[in-house]
Amino acid sequence: MQLVSNYENLYKALGGKVRMVAVSKTKPVEMIRELYDAGQRDFGENRVQELTAKSAVLPADITWHFIGHLQTNKVRFIVPFVGYIHSVDSLKLLSEINREAAKINRVINCLLQFHIATEETKFGLSFEEAAALLNNPDTARMQNVRICGIMGMATFTDNKQLIRNEFRQLKSHFDKLKTSYFNDDPAFREISMGMSNDYEIAIEEGSTMVRIGSLIFGER
Ligand SMILES: *Cc1c(COP(=O)(O)O)cnc(C)c1O
Repeated sequence: MQLVSNYENLYKALGGKVRMVAVSKTKPVEMIRELYDAGQRDFGENRVQELTAKSAVLPADITWHFIGHLQTNKVRFIVPFVGYIHSVDSLKLLSEINREAAKINRVINCLLQFHIATEETKFGLSFEEAAALLNNPDTARMQNVRICGIMGMATFTDNKQLIRNEFRQLKSHFDKLKTSYFNDDPAFREISMGMSNDYEIAIEEGSTMVRIGSLIFGER
């Protein structure tokens, strides 16, 4: 029961301050089921095929969070059941999510992913790109996506000050977007930041959702 005690300790440590997404990528459905039985309902995956296969055999009241890079040609596989897509990084992707969701009358919760890390490899928008996406008249017409907030990943480093600065920048992006585009929209409220090695800093800097894998499930 190591898994469940890891989970319960972390859950207690978070103290209800933020929503915890348990990142189950590469881990078997049996482990997800064990956490489900312990009460966890939010799970995160980063590959379309793996997510689709797992969701098909697990309870329907799980809220699935897609957290990986998403190609437009794969959107249709997850739109029927996904709860949140944290990794929207282009207008093209947002339009495709909207188009597929409209076909089945769903509204998909989306977060705009920002590039805040020093690593070039990480995906995400700059502030200017996000503003351009939100200024585009096509975005306002989309009825089947709900832009709920933003997501970002800090640099993978031991430098806590660098991580803190990156999270602070993400929070400031959130505040600016909230004021300029979402002042009257209570749905725009999520800041998805913080993983196993930096969630404490993320919470201090205003995270509302942490995405935690290895601290719960063990190393991948
Ligand atoms: C894998 C992953 C996580 C979880 O990482 P851990 O370090 O195992 O907690 C969180 N967010 C994203 C986008 C990921 O790909």
